[in-house]
Parts: sequence; C-alpha cells; structure tokens
Amino acid sequence: MSFNKEINRRRTFGIISHPDAGKTTLTEKLLLFGGAIQEAGAVKSNKIKKGATSDFMEIERQRGISVATSVLAFEYNGIKINILDTPGHKDFAEDTFRTLTAVDSVIVVIDVAKGVEEQTEKLVEVCRMRNIPMIVFINKLDREGKDAFDLLDEVEQKLGLSVVPLSFPIGMGYDFKGIYNLWEKNVNLFSGDSRKNIEETIEISDLASEELNELVGEKAANTLREEIELVEGIYPTFDKDTYLNGQQQPVFFGSALNNFGVRELLDCFVDIAPKPRPKQSEERLVKPDENKFTGFVFKIHANMDPNHRDRLAFIKIVSGKFERNKPYLHVRNNKKLKFSSPNAFFAEKKEIVDVSYPGDIVGLHDTGNFKIGDTLTEGEAINYKGIPSFSPEHFRYINNADPLKSKQLYKGIDQLMDEGVAQLFTLELNGRKVIGTVGALQYEVIQYRLEHEYGAKCTYENLNVFKACWVDPEDEKNEEYKEFLRVKQRFLAKDKHDQLVFLADSAFSLQMTQQKYPSIKFHFTSEFK
Ligand code: GDP
Repeated sequence: MSFNKEINRRRTFGIISHPDAGKTTLTEKLLLFGGAIQEAGAVKSNKIKKGATSDFMEIERQRGISVATSVLAFEYNGIKINILDTPGHKDFAEDTFRTLTAVDSVIVVIDVAKGVEEQTEKLVEVCRMRNIPMIVFINKLDREGKDAFDLLDEVEQKLGLSVVPLSFPIGMGYDFKGIYNLWEKNVNLFSGDSRKNIEETIEISDLASEELNELVGEKAANTLREEIELVEGIYPTFDKDTYLNGQQQPVFFGSALNNFGVRELLDCFVDIAPKPRPKQSEERLVKPDENKFTGFVFKIHANMDPNHRDRLAFIKIVSGKFERNKPYLHVRNNKKLKFSSPNAFFAEKKEIVDVSYPGDIVGLHDTGNFKIGDTLTEGEAINYKGIPSFSPEHFRYINNADPLKSKQLYKGIDQLMDEGVAQLFTLELNGRKVIGTVGALQYEVIQYRLEHEYGAKCTYENLNVFKACWVDPEDEKNEEYKEFLRVKQRFLAKDKHDQLVFLADSAFSLQMTQQKYPSIKFHFTSEFK
C-alpha cells in the first residue's frame, strides 16, 4: 500500500467521559465490531474503585491496566483505528489532557440520565480550545433518562457545543423502541438482546409511511414524526467541514451495553472522522504526508518491574514513516537515538513493528532520555509546541525522610515529574520543593513509587496554596514588576521549565495582586506564549 493510502486510512481518537458514563463498554463494543476481541469483558476498565485510594495494590493494578489499555488498535472496513485511552478519574486529568494532544478527534460519551457531568465539561473545554472534531454519543437509552431535547440543550449550554442530532431515540427506558437514524434514514429496532452483534435495520424512505406505525406502534410513530420535524426545524444540517473545524458536533443515541446504536456511530465515524491532521511546531506546520519522520512524546509509562528502571515512551507519529533501527534525532538533547524494538499496540497485545505511519502510536523503551513533549525527527531541529501544564489543585512540600538517600530521592522526583505524574515547583526564597497534583491520590502514588522504585523515603507537609499562576509580565524591566518580585518573593517559585510561577494562597490575594500589578498577567496554564 502506498504511503498516502496508509495515512488516509488511519483514524486516531480518544473517548472522553465522566467515570461510569460507559467509555469502557463502548470501547469494547467498537473492538467487537472490528473483530479485535471475541467476547465482552475483554477490555479492562482502568477505573480506580471508590474507596480504594489508599490501596497500593489497586494503584499497581491500575498502572498495569493503564499500560495494557493505553492504545487499542483495530481494523474496520479497511480503516486502521487507534483508540487512545483517557483516564476518566479526575486525579488523572493531566494524563488525559496530554493524551488529547495526540488525538485527531474525540467521541464524548454522556449518560442519558446524568446528563453533562463535571469531568466531561473540563475535557470538552480542552478539546474546544483546540478545535478538535467531536462526536457525541448519548448512552444508556435502555434506562429512564432525560428528555432528548432537554439533553441536547444541556449539551449546547454546558459544553458550548453546536449539536446536530444524526440519530434520535424512539421512546426511552421501559418504552425504548429503537433509534431513527437521520444520517442513513432508517430505523433500528431495539430487542434488548446484548448478544446480538449486528442489529436489524429497516430502511424507511418516508417517515410518513404506514410501515413505521406497524414497526413501533402508532403513538410512538407519531411522536417520532413530530420530533424529527422539530429536529429538522431547530438544528442545522450536518456539514462535514464544519464538524472537522470543530464548529459543529454530530450526536448519536444508543446503548453501549446492549450494543445498540454503536454500529451506526462507528460507520459514521469512519466516514467523517479526520485522518491524521497536520501539527504546528514552533518553527512551522508539519504535514503528515511529508517524507521525513517526525513525532512527539505525549505519555511516559514506568515499567511495571521495579528492578528495571526502563520506561515506555509513547510517541505519536506526525509525519513520515517511523522505522525500526533507524537513527532519529532527539531534538532537546541534540542526540541521535536508535530503537531496536519499537512496540505497536493492538487490542490485546503489543508487538515489535518495523514500520509505523502518521496517526500511529509507537512505544519506545527508554532509560531516561525522554520527557513529555519531546520531539523526535529525522534530523530537522523542530519542536512540537509544548504540552501545557495546568494549575494543580493540591500543593504540599516534599521532605526527604532518609538523609542517606537524598540522591535517590531527587533522581526519583525528577523522573516521576518527567513522566508527568505531578508538577514540581522550587521556591525562589529557600529552594524548598513543592509538589502540585490534580488529586490527592497522586501523593500516595509518588511516595509509594519513590520507595519501591528508587529506595527513597519522603514525607509531605501541608502548604496553603490556592492556585499556581504562571507570571507573564508586560515588561521585565519596569518598576512595577521589580516591586512585584520583591514584595511577593515568598510566594514565587520556578516550574520544571524554569518559568516563574506565583503561588497565590487564596482567591482574594490573587485578586488583590492582580489589581495592584495590572501590567502583569497571571495564567492558570503554562501555555500562554
Ligand atoms: P466508564 O467508567 O465510562 O468506562 O463506564 P463503564 O463502561 O465501566 O460503565 C459503567 C457502568 O454502566 C457499567 O456497570 C456498565 O455495565 C453500565 N453501562 C454501560 N453502558 C450501558 C448502557 O447502555 N445501559 C445500561 N443500562 N448500563 C450501561
């Protein structure tokens, strides 16, 4: 197959949802369609069970599963589909944000009864900022839920999306009869039999036909006719380019558990979802069909075996072919590296591959060369735009609890930060180290891994910080900025890239500071330049 054909047949995407909306179940059904797995239950959920936060076995189990489900690839009708796993648990939100830099599109799963939930809001906002094309799947239609129109309103308002329903439910919960597909203009009847892989679809060329009455009953048929008329009156018609620009989001309804409405979603997805997209580097826009290989690291995973400190770096291929044993330039280190056993990922296994194409993810064994955001090329010194850090929610001092092991501790902290487990801030005043995380669970993970992988012990000490704000002065030389540096010295720190950060101790003090120093901007993310 030609190089261009290989690119054009790839679809790399992520499924985002609030925990429990049905991401794992949907993933599994998609894999079933692709023939990548034979039975339900084969995809492991990487969820952390409620109440298991202090259970280290649970953390280890979670790490194992998260390697196994990092990338799930399968083929469907000649299309190579790569699903990138995005943890739904809020403590791992950073991980998900980073993964979103490597997807070309996303599917958003929403629970019909719960509607738009907190995690979904945050993740969709990130996708919206980047104009990532999104398809919405409203799940669990076999259960009583919100009215379809109310839900569509909620999705528009809370998520700021511009929706176009491409399917519409006929009844819901106990009365759920099936789905009318506006995209294919047919009716799919619900039997509630989850063992069936392919549902029977009935072509309906005319909604006014008697046939519809026979299929779903006169009452439901009439309701559907009215609703579809409303849908066609209220919502714009679907336009592929508008979707691809991130300005319009098609919506599907279904029940992942019952494998209902999933094929419709998948068929539409392979039809409209973007092939690998060009990516902006600091120097220039890079197109997938360029001959020379480029890619970037979006995830680093520590090896499960504590005796081997090697790690797996996940690279998204942006352009060209990635080949085994060919020397590539690690741009940040200005060093050539060769990889003898790059891994490609499939539904249930990983394998060494000789060649990978744009859109694909390869896992490279790494002994500490890589940081998240690093660029690899065939020689050109380009840098893909950094992967942003967001202000953590929790902050604690980290102290060395074993003076004989301080070297191990600092090495451990360094490597765990490279992996993106948490963020490190070094106070300007006294050099003390502060760890910032999205969730409290990360502190336990860090402490546990420092001890088991690096032989170092740490303790934490509380620190009252409301938000980390990246400092962006209008002019580094003006008096106002100099005064700010002097007065707020106690609250200033450097992040891992040596960027200056203001650790505001309350919303109020942040507000006062902003008022007092109007020429300085304070950002909640490191990506503002
Ligand atoms: P995730 O946290 O988003 O990965 O959610 P899961 O896929 O693990 O699903 C959470 C729960 O919802 C599980 O108990 C599923 O069996 C259930 N579930 C998923 N899809 C459906 C559905 O279509 N209908 C019903 N009734 N339950 C579902």
